[in-house]
Amino acid sequence: MNSKKESIFENKRYQEIREELNREEVFVGKNALTKAEIIQKLMPLQNKSLCAECGGSCCKHNGCSYLPMDFQDLSFNGLKTKLEKGYISIISQPVFYEKHVKILLYVRTRNEGRPIVDFLSTKRACRLWTPNGCPFSIEDRPSLGIMCIPGYENGNLSCHPIVTDSILETLWYKHQKTLKALVSHFTGKTVQKVMQEQADALIRQIYTKQMSVGMISAEERELVFLMENLRNYGFIV
Ligand code: SF4
Ligand code: SF4
Repeated sequence: MNSKKESIFENKRYQEIREELNREEVFVGKNALTKAEIIQKLMPLQNKSLCAECGGSCCKHNGCSYLPMDFQDLSFNGLKTKLEKGYISIISQPVFYEKHVKILLYVRTRNEGRPIVDFLSTKRACRLWTPNGCPFSIEDRPSLGIMCIPGYENGNLSCHPIVTDSILETLWYKHQKTLKALVSHFTGKTVQKVMQEQADALIRQIYTKQMSVGMISAEERELVFLMENLRNYGFIV
Protein backbone atom coordinates (compact mmCIF):
# COMPACT_ATOMS: atom_id res chain seq x y z
CA MET A 1 0.00 0.00 0.00
CA ASN A 2 1.14 3.55 -0.74
CA SER A 3 2.68 4.74 2.57
CA LYS A 4 0.71 8.01 2.28
CA LYS A 5 -2.43 5.91 2.35
CA GLU A 6 -1.60 3.94 5.50
CA SER A 7 -4.27 4.17 8.16
CA ILE A 8 -3.61 6.67 10.93
CA PHE A 9 -6.48 5.19 12.94
CA GLU A 10 -4.32 2.23 13.95
CA ASN A 11 -1.22 4.21 14.88
CA LYS A 12 -0.08 4.66 18.46
CA ARG A 13 -0.28 8.48 18.50
CA TYR A 14 -3.90 8.46 17.29
CA GLN A 15 -4.86 5.77 19.82
CA GLU A 16 -3.19 7.66 22.70
CA ILE A 17 -4.89 10.97 21.87
CA ARG A 18 -8.23 9.20 21.46
CA GLU A 19 -7.86 7.47 24.81
CA GLU A 20 -6.98 10.72 26.54
CA LEU A 21 -9.82 12.75 24.98
CA ASN A 22 -12.46 10.19 25.90
CA ARG A 23 -11.90 10.81 29.61
CA GLU A 24 -14.38 13.12 31.33
CA GLU A 25 -11.59 14.72 33.46
CA VAL A 26 -10.12 16.25 30.30
CA PHE A 27 -13.23 18.43 29.99
CA VAL A 28 -14.53 18.92 33.54
CA GLY A 29 -13.06 19.47 36.97
CA LYS A 30 -9.99 21.26 38.24
CA ASN A 31 -7.62 19.54 35.80
CA ALA A 32 -9.79 20.18 32.73
CA LEU A 33 -7.92 21.37 29.65
CA THR A 34 -8.84 24.58 27.85
CA LYS A 35 -10.09 24.43 24.28
CA ALA A 36 -6.73 25.84 23.13
CA GLU A 37 -4.90 23.00 24.91
CA ILE A 38 -7.20 20.41 23.34
CA ILE A 39 -6.59 21.92 19.89
CA GLN A 40 -2.84 21.64 20.54
CA LYS A 41 -3.25 17.94 21.31
CA LEU A 42 -5.21 17.46 18.08
CA MET A 43 -2.77 19.36 15.87
CA PRO A 44 -0.65 16.28 14.95
CA LEU A 45 -3.80 14.62 13.62
CA GLN A 46 -5.05 17.54 11.51
CA ASN A 47 -4.48 17.15 7.79
CA LYS A 48 -5.53 20.12 5.66
CA SER A 49 -4.48 18.49 2.42
CA LEU A 50 -6.79 15.53 3.03
CA CYS A 51 -9.65 17.94 3.79
CA ALA A 52 -8.88 19.84 0.57
CA GLU A 53 -8.89 16.57 -1.35
CA CYS A 54 -12.21 15.59 0.22
CA GLY A 55 -13.79 19.02 -0.31
CA GLY A 56 -15.78 19.18 2.94
CA SER A 57 -17.83 16.01 2.80
CA CYS A 58 -18.60 16.28 6.55
CA CYS A 59 -19.91 19.86 6.27
CA LYS A 60 -21.94 19.04 3.15
CA HIS A 61 -23.83 16.36 5.07
CA ASN A 62 -24.35 17.83 8.54
CA GLY A 63 -23.43 20.68 10.84
CA CYS A 64 -20.90 19.81 13.52
CA SER A 65 -21.73 19.52 17.21
CA TYR A 66 -20.62 21.81 19.98
CA LEU A 67 -19.34 20.73 23.37
CA PRO A 68 -20.09 22.87 26.45
CA MET A 69 -16.48 24.15 26.42
CA ASP A 70 -17.26 25.98 23.15
CA PHE A 71 -19.44 28.44 25.09
CA GLN A 72 -18.20 30.95 27.62
CA ASP A 73 -21.66 31.39 29.13
CA LEU A 74 -23.77 28.26 29.48
CA SER A 75 -26.63 29.99 31.30
CA PHE A 76 -30.09 30.24 29.68
CA ASN A 77 -29.37 33.82 28.58
CA GLY A 78 -25.85 33.04 27.40
CA LEU A 79 -26.97 30.17 25.16
CA LYS A 80 -30.08 32.08 24.03
CA THR A 81 -27.90 34.93 22.78
CA LYS A 82 -25.75 32.47 20.80
CA LEU A 83 -28.79 30.66 19.36
CA GLU A 84 -30.33 33.96 18.29
CA LYS A 85 -27.39 34.52 15.95
CA GLY A 86 -29.14 32.12 13.56
CA TYR A 87 -26.49 29.50 12.79
CA ILE A 88 -27.02 27.04 15.65
CA SER A 89 -29.78 24.49 16.30
CA ILE A 90 -30.77 22.44 19.32
CA ILE A 91 -30.81 18.79 18.26
CA SER A 92 -32.00 15.60 19.93
CA GLN A 93 -30.60 12.16 20.57
CA PRO A 94 -33.20 9.64 21.81
CA VAL A 95 -31.73 7.01 24.15
CA PHE A 96 -33.88 3.90 24.65
CA TYR A 97 -33.86 2.10 28.00
CA GLU A 98 -35.79 -1.05 28.85
CA LYS A 99 -38.97 0.75 29.81
CA HIS A 100 -38.56 4.37 28.83
CA VAL A 101 -36.91 6.69 26.37
CA LYS A 102 -34.82 9.71 27.28
CA ILE A 103 -34.40 12.58 24.82
CA LEU A 104 -30.96 14.12 25.21
CA LEU A 105 -30.48 17.59 23.79
CA TYR A 106 -27.28 18.89 22.19
CA VAL A 107 -26.28 21.91 20.13
CA ARG A 108 -24.98 21.86 16.55
CA THR A 109 -24.37 24.30 13.72
CA ARG A 110 -27.62 24.66 11.81
CA ASN A 111 -28.30 22.72 8.66
CA GLU A 112 -29.50 24.42 5.46
CA GLY A 113 -33.22 25.25 5.65
CA ARG A 114 -33.68 23.80 9.14
CA PRO A 115 -35.18 25.53 12.20
CA ILE A 116 -33.59 26.57 15.48
CA VAL A 117 -34.94 23.40 17.10
CA ASP A 118 -34.15 20.55 14.72
CA PHE A 119 -35.04 17.20 16.24
CA LEU A 120 -35.86 15.03 13.25
CA SER A 121 -34.65 15.58 9.72
CA THR A 122 -32.63 14.06 6.94
CA LYS A 123 -29.04 15.25 6.82
CA ARG A 124 -28.13 18.26 4.71
CA ALA A 125 -25.31 20.80 4.47
CA CYS A 126 -24.26 23.02 7.35
CA ARG A 127 -25.62 26.45 6.50
CA LEU A 128 -22.21 28.01 7.19
CA TRP A 129 -20.29 25.88 4.72
CA THR A 130 -19.15 27.42 1.42
CA PRO A 131 -16.94 26.00 -1.34
CA ASN A 132 -14.13 27.94 0.37
CA GLY A 133 -14.62 25.85 3.50
CA CYS A 134 -15.63 26.69 7.06
CA PRO A 135 -15.85 30.40 7.91
CA PHE A 136 -14.70 29.79 11.50
CA SER A 137 -11.11 29.83 12.66
CA ILE A 138 -10.09 26.56 14.29
CA GLU A 139 -10.44 28.24 17.72
CA ASP A 140 -14.06 29.23 17.02
CA ARG A 141 -15.11 26.03 15.26
CA PRO A 142 -17.43 23.68 17.16
CA SER A 143 -15.33 21.08 18.99
CA LEU A 144 -16.73 18.07 17.17
CA GLY A 145 -15.73 19.71 13.88
CA ILE A 146 -12.14 19.90 15.11
CA MET A 147 -12.32 16.37 16.48
CA CYS A 148 -13.33 14.83 13.16
CA ILE A 149 -10.03 13.24 12.15
CA PRO A 150 -9.28 12.48 8.50
CA GLY A 151 -7.11 9.63 7.32
CA TYR A 152 -6.97 6.62 5.07
CA GLU A 153 -8.67 3.37 5.90
CA ASN A 154 -8.20 0.36 3.65
CA GLY A 155 -6.73 2.76 1.10
CA ASN A 156 -9.79 5.04 1.08
CA LEU A 157 -10.10 8.54 2.54
CA SER A 158 -12.16 8.33 5.69
CA CYS A 159 -12.97 10.37 8.79
CA HIS A 160 -13.70 9.45 12.39
CA PRO A 161 -14.82 11.55 15.35
CA ILE A 162 -12.11 11.04 17.95
CA VAL A 163 -14.58 11.25 20.84
CA THR A 164 -17.52 8.88 21.25
CA ASP A 165 -21.19 9.86 21.51
CA SER A 166 -21.00 9.01 25.20
CA ILE A 167 -18.65 11.93 25.90
CA LEU A 168 -21.15 14.25 24.17
CA GLU A 169 -23.87 12.79 26.39
CA THR A 170 -21.79 13.06 29.57
CA LEU A 171 -20.73 16.66 28.96
CA TRP A 172 -24.16 18.00 27.95
CA TYR A 173 -25.99 16.04 30.66
CA LYS A 174 -26.00 18.76 33.30
CA HIS A 175 -27.24 21.38 30.79
CA GLN A 176 -30.38 19.46 29.81
CA LYS A 177 -32.69 21.63 31.91
CA THR A 178 -31.36 24.78 30.23
CA LEU A 179 -31.66 23.29 26.74
CA LYS A 180 -35.24 22.15 27.46
CA ALA A 181 -36.10 25.66 28.64
CA LEU A 182 -34.59 27.04 25.41
CA VAL A 183 -36.71 24.64 23.29
CA SER A 184 -39.75 25.94 25.08
CA HIS A 185 -38.60 29.57 24.70
CA PHE A 186 -37.99 29.33 20.94
CA THR A 187 -40.97 27.13 20.00
CA GLY A 188 -43.53 27.76 22.74
CA LYS A 189 -43.82 23.95 22.95
CA THR A 190 -42.51 21.02 24.97
CA VAL A 191 -39.77 18.71 23.67
CA GLN A 192 -42.41 16.00 23.16
CA LYS A 193 -44.72 18.29 21.16
CA VAL A 194 -41.88 19.46 18.89
CA MET A 195 -40.82 15.84 18.34
CA GLN A 196 -44.39 14.92 17.39
CA GLU A 197 -44.71 17.77 14.90
CA GLN A 198 -41.34 17.09 13.30
CA ALA A 199 -42.07 13.34 13.11
CA ASP A 200 -45.39 14.08 11.37
CA ALA A 201 -43.65 16.38 8.87
CA LEU A 202 -40.80 13.93 8.23
CA ILE A 203 -43.07 10.95 7.72
CA ARG A 204 -45.10 12.99 5.19
CA GLN A 205 -41.88 13.95 3.38
CA ILE A 206 -40.64 10.33 3.27
CA TYR A 207 -44.07 9.00 2.23
CA THR A 208 -44.31 11.58 -0.60
CA LYS A 209 -40.85 10.59 -1.83
CA GLN A 210 -41.70 6.91 -1.72
CA MET A 211 -44.83 7.55 -3.74
CA SER A 212 -43.02 9.58 -6.41
CA VAL A 213 -39.62 7.84 -6.62
CA GLY A 214 -40.64 4.36 -5.47
CA MET A 215 -37.85 4.00 -2.93
CA ILE A 216 -36.29 5.69 0.08
CA SER A 217 -32.65 5.99 1.20
CA ALA A 218 -30.92 4.03 3.97
CA GLU A 219 -30.92 7.21 6.08
CA GLU A 220 -34.69 7.61 5.61
CA ARG A 221 -35.23 3.94 6.55
CA GLU A 222 -33.24 4.54 9.75
CA LEU A 223 -35.37 7.58 10.55
CA VAL A 224 -38.58 5.60 9.97
CA PHE A 225 -37.21 2.95 12.36
CA LEU A 226 -36.37 5.63 14.93
CA MET A 227 -39.87 7.11 14.69
CA GLU A 228 -41.40 3.63 15.07
CA ASN A 229 -39.36 3.14 18.24
CA LEU A 230 -40.47 6.52 19.60
CA ARG A 231 -44.05 5.48 18.87
CA ASN A 232 -43.61 2.06 20.52
CA TYR A 233 -42.31 3.77 23.65
CA GLY A 234 -45.32 6.10 23.65
CA PHE A 235 -43.24 9.25 23.14
CA ILE A 236 -45.08 10.12 19.93
CA VAL A 237 -48.34 8.81 18.49
S1 SF4 B 1 -12.78 16.39 8.22
FE1 SF4 B 1 -13.00 14.58 6.91
S2 SF4 B 1 -14.99 14.74 5.91
FE2 SF4 B 1 -14.41 16.75 6.72
S3 SF4 B 1 -13.37 17.83 5.04
FE3 SF4 B 1 -11.78 16.83 6.25
S4 SF4 B 1 -11.49 14.86 5.26
FE4 SF4 B 1 -13.45 15.65 4.54
S1 SF4 C 1 -19.29 24.85 11.35
FE1 SF4 C 1 -17.66 24.77 9.86
S2 SF4 C 1 -16.66 22.75 10.21
FE2 SF4 C 1 -18.66 22.69 11.20
S3 SF4 C 1 -20.02 21.78 9.67
FE3 SF4 C 1 -20.18 24.03 9.48
S4 SF4 C 1 -18.73 24.62 7.88
FE4 SF4 C 1 -18.20 22.53 8.59
